Amino acid sequence: MMKRLSMLAAFFAFASGAALAAYPERPVTLIVPFAAGGPTDVVARIVGDHMSRTLGQQIVVENVTGAGGTTGTTRAAQAAPDGYTIMMGHMGTHGAAPAVYPNLKYDPLKDFAPIGLAAGTPILIVARKDLPPKDLKEFVAYAKQNSDKLNEAHAGVGSVSFTTCSLLNSILGIKPTRVPYQGTGPALNDLVGGQVDYMCDQIVNLTPQIQAASIKAYGIGTEKRSPALPDVPTTKEGGLPEFQVSAWNALFAPKGTPKEIVIQLNAALVKALDDQATRKRLLDLGAEIADKSGRTPEALEKLVSSEIARWNKVLKVAAK
Ligand code: ASP
Repeated sequence: MMKRLSMLAAFFAFASGAALAAYPERPVTLIVPFAAGGPTDVVARIVGDHMSRTLGQQIVVENVTGAGGTTGTTRAAQAAPDGYTIMMGHMGTHGAAPAVYPNLKYDPLKDFAPIGLAAGTPILIVARKDLPPKDLKEFVAYAKQNSDKLNEAHAGVGSVSFTTCSLLNSILGIKPTRVPYQGTGPALNDLVGGQVDYMCDQIVNLTPQIQAASIKAYGIGTEKRSPALPDVPTTKEGGLPEFQVSAWNALFAPKGTPKEIVIQLNAALVKALDDQATRKRLLDLGAEIADKSGRTPEALEKLVSSEIARWNKVLKVAAK
């Protein structure tokens, strides 16, 4: 009997080991909870591209939009935890959303296995190129005088653009018309087209448009200027030091995904972030790349819990 049992145990150990060793044996779906062309999508495609080569299988991006990114995030939380569905989350889906959706169908900490941080993304205040104010000081005065005429674009309640502009609007004491999009890719198109007035967003898809002068940038909410946009002043330099804010994108798997698979995905992510060409693509767009200690699943778990606490406070004040 004992012998039989130990043979069985050996068989199962071999079988599960073989299954894991074979991972991934088919394409991996990477859910992006926003529209194509936005920062989350851009970071997912750059990082996913290199990870596909490491894993020897295609990483297929699927844009599942709606409800400020929470629709796609719910889908990822409920997916089979087998390593074949992962997602690119961000400061909104995994930090701010619980504060603005009392009936959120997922818990960013309990329902996900963090894989690792993909990019830090400074936040900028940007406007259509023909909005009258020339700089941040003028924008502040203009926004206060024209609050009811201004249209602000965002990627849905709870998104990064929504939460960071909630902070900006509350600092300025303004109540503009807030126009939701399925992501800041389409929102940016309308900003370039002049259909909306201003937006707060993650640097990565703004950089090319700022460089081409198709939109204007009033300030970046970081301590220092970005090497990708050295002409854009910090909000501190521009006279609005209260607007200090940045965001991030990170990979998550559904909770219950085998540890070995999470380790394998993390290793592929780390390798992508060490690859010269991939680094350059991210850095040129203004993304920040964490050092090794900032890329572990544990570091991401800590970041998520501190962000939930931070945004809970900020958004309560902003909602007043
Ligand atoms: N940056 C967006 C946000 O505001 C989402 C996107 O990546 O399109 O949350």
